[in-house]
Amino acid sequence: MTSVPSKLYTDDVSLLMVLLDTNPFFWSAATATSLSFSKFLSHVLAFLNSVLLLNQLNQVVVIATGFNTCDYVFDSSVGSIQRAESLLQKLEAFVVKDEQLGKEGSVDGIGSSLLSGSLSMALCYIQRIFRSGPLHPQPRILCLHGSPDGPEQYVAIMNAIFSAQRSMVPIDSCLLGAQHSAFLQQASYITGGVYLKPQQLDGLFQYLSTVFGADLLSRSFLQLPKPVGVDFRASCFCHKNTIDMGYICSVCLSIFCQHHKKCSTCGSVFGQAQTNAPSTSSQKRKTPET
Ligand SMILES: [Zn+2]
Ligand SMILES: [Zn+2]
Repeated sequence: MTSVPSKLYTDDVSLLMVLLDTNPFFWSAATATSLSFSKFLSHVLAFLNSVLLLNQLNQVVVIATGFNTCDYVFDSSVGSIQRAESLLQKLEAFVVKDEQLGKEGSVDGIGSSLLSGSLSMALCYIQRIFRSGPLHPQPRILCLHGSPDGPEQYVAIMNAIFSAQRSMVPIDSCLLGAQHSAFLQQASYITGGVYLKPQQLDGLFQYLSTVFGADLLSRSFLQLPKPVGVDFRASCFCHKNTIDMGYICSVCLSIFCQHHKKCSTCGSVFGQAQTNAPSTSSQKRKTPET
């Protein structure tokens, strides 16, 4: 069991970092089937308000996870009278900026959003809170995510997950898309967070408030969803494919789908590939399970 014991600070005050998936390719594909982006936002705004009402010391920070970039769009500690409006305005400006940064015109399917970037931004913000003094709210990260995993972000996301685990910050995941996310399954499992893929997205607010609303202290008294299965497969560093079996560099633990003469990460030279017996320096075996 890898669930992380929570640090006991002064009280049950929460710092909730919400990562909003704003990938336009995901949302334009999703409207026909289930939840539109505006309906999604109205659920999320009601949830954020309820978290802020639970305790006047609670803090909410929203980071938009776009297709090309990510940015902070809301911070409840920065005083504002019309909070919802400022969030919506900043979000709109962000979506426009994200679109302008477009790399190339053609995208295969939905494409992934920059989860590694927004996770890193959330962890940076949390580190700043940790260093602000002995009395600070208990941080947690909630990923509201719908885009498919981007295998090219595998290393950055795993680094963010281990950093969160080390800082005892749980990463909660609420999946809005059709498929599960192996990245977020691993993130929630490793950091002791909750992973949930709601059955009915039109009741999203109820899922958010009952599963993700409670502070970390109260969580120990609740029956929250348990992980039913975690996809531990890794992505190879050479082609960013998801693989079941692969070659692992015995020096730096980089993963490859085929035999290489030299490790592209650390430069170690591997032995000759043999037809039946695996070579000494890089052994064919199952990718490690964390
Ligand atoms: Zn490969
Ligand atoms: Zn290596």
